[in-house]
Amino acid sequence: MKIGIGSADSSLSPRRLLEPFLERHSHLRGAQFLRLQGGVISVAPPESITYTRILLVSDAAGSVKPTSGGGIHTGILSAKLVARTVVSSLERGVFTKSALSDYDRTWGAQVRRELVIGRALRHMLLNLTPKQVDALLTVIGKPSFQTLERENGDFDFPARLFSRLLTSGPVLRALVALPPAMWPSLVRMAVQWRRYRVSLALPA
Ligand SMILES: Cc1cc2nc3c(=O)[nH]c(=O)nc-3n(C[C@H](O)[C@H](O)[C@H](O)COP(=O)(O)OP(=O)(O)OC[C@H]3O[C@@H](n4cnc5c(N)ncnc54)[C@H](O)[C@@H]3O)c2cc1C
Repeated sequence: MKIGIGSADSSLSPRRLLEPFLERHSHLRGAQFLRLQGGVISVAPPESITYTRILLVSDAAGSVKPTSGGGIHTGILSAKLVARTVVSSLERGVFTKSALSDYDRTWGAQVRRELVIGRALRHMLLNLTPKQVDALLTVIGKPSFQTLERENGDFDFPARLFSRLLTSGPVLRALVALPPAMWPSLVRMAVQWRRYRVSLALPA
């Protein structure tokens, strides 16, 4: 069995978090560690990802989803975009920052924008307690959310999806069905998300 554990706090070792996690789940108690592997995941893209003769891709460009730490999907997408720019620069024999800036532009529209939104969502989720996050995940597993996701894109690329969330009747009903103690946090999240939507100029 594989168990993944992540920490947003660099002072907390995932190994130290793993032990109480195993203790909390009776079927995992006493499990033997066969192999441990891990690493740092960068979730913040630099201001620019193109320089003369240099193009940053995937982890080097910080193209990891801030909500999950997953970087494979965005990395493959970035690789496709960078390949186009590399081919075109090789054909023209020009490798200046401005000749390569096409990658920065397309990456900005397709990947950076989603990462910025992902960061906003991450900040919102960090304000919740682990129990509240668990409760929210039960909503994400519900058919109403799954339908919304199918119709409005992809949880990996949340811009459109989250813009629709607060106007979807079935999803709102599922959120209201969460424990009343969570309602103040949900209202705060809704207000925060509306602010982000305005500042990021997302569609209503
Ligand atoms: C513990 C962990 C779990 C993860 N789980 C997931 C997951 O479930 N889903 C997901 O989508 N993402 C996950 N990620 C993130 C994902 O692995 C990375 O975002 C993705 O692999 C980045 O791809 P990359 O090509 O940029 O870098 P890498 O996959 O790290 O590839 C870089 C390569 O360069 C090599 N290299 C380094 N320095 C040199 C050098 N000087 N010369 C030659 N070669 C060199 C390295 O050996 C490595 O093979 C996880 C990351 C970690 C650390």
